Amino acid sequence: MIIVLQVGATQAQIDAVADAVRELGHEPLVMPGEDRWAIGVPAQLDSGQRATLEGVVSRLEGISQITETSRPYKLASVEYHRSPTYVEVKGVKVGPGNFVVMGGPCSVESYEQYRASADVVKSSGATVLRGGAFKPRTSPYAFQGLQQEGLEIIKRVGDETGLATITEVMTADMVGRVASYVDILQIGARSMQNFPLLVEAGRSGKPVFLKRGPSATIDEFLLAAEYVLNEGNPHVILCERGILPHDRAYTRNTLDLAAVPVLLSHTHLPVMADPSHGTGVAKYVAPMAKAAMVAGAHGVMVEMHPNPRAALSDGSQALDAEEFTALMGELKKLAGFVGVKM
Ligand code: PEP
Ligand code: MN
Repeated sequence: MIIVLQVGATQAQIDAVADAVRELGHEPLVMPGEDRWAIGVPAQLDSGQRATLEGVVSRLEGISQITETSRPYKLASVEYHRSPTYVEVKGVKVGPGNFVVMGGPCSVESYEQYRASADVVKSSGATVLRGGAFKPRTSPYAFQGLQQEGLEIIKRVGDETGLATITEVMTADMVGRVASYVDILQIGARSMQNFPLLVEAGRSGKPVFLKRGPSATIDEFLLAAEYVLNEGNPHVILCERGILPHDRAYTRNTLDLAAVPVLLSHTHLPVMADPSHGTGVAKYVAPMAKAAMVAGAHGVMVEMHPNPRAALSDGSQALDAEEFTALMGELKKLAGFVGVKM
């Protein structure tokens, strides 16, 4: 249940509602908002408790609405925050009306490879440069990323090109270090429920790009976002990147594009899609990127590599320079029909 207070509610009114919730034996979640405050009751109330609370709040001024929500997340919900959240970084604004493309290689492999990728990303009109320095690999024998050297390359190329940058951080103790090199912290699908990491990313105050876990439900995904929001960091972008596939013979994951409109109807946070990890196959990336735009996503993350066949990770899903540039052209055309800016 969420109790939404009128614009201009006083501190005394806010306290009175919180006290009423406490008297029912629940710790209220007091959620300051830009326009209005809300008070969450983090438990299902039985009908008697609800009637009691309704009685209390109906006698208080400053209450505009009591909303029953069966959903466990609060700060991420549209009931709490009705206007959409925009995440802004280096002039890039992720949210409704805009379509942001984050492009770049799966892994940073060398300065030359990364700079060449960045040049393609920039010249094609994409605005955020991706690339992993620390790679979560299924096998410990696979390329683990250039690590510290990778962070330094990302910073250098970001500074040289002016592109906003994003890279994955895998552990809570690394958040501060990674945050000092990039503009956006990526939390990978495998880490979506690494709760200490989510908390630390929240405390950093940096924009957080949160990928959906391969088997996460929508509630689990939004509760993961809730951990970041609960630390006072509202800058969260959600990313659907494919859930465990029914048929791995053809695609690496199943890109759950239905999750895009579902998320948009339940959360105020921006929602993007990753057709690269979502399909695992380069030739399916463009159709699914366009489908993501039509489904209402606020952008896509797309892997590209100057020479996909030589890539040290995820070469089979990487677009080359020409394919990436062609996709950008197609997306720009489609953006005109869909009514979003690129
Ligand atoms: C990636 O973006 O390179 C990555 C590892 O993605 P995911 O966490 O979605 O697998
Ligand atoms: Mn990858």
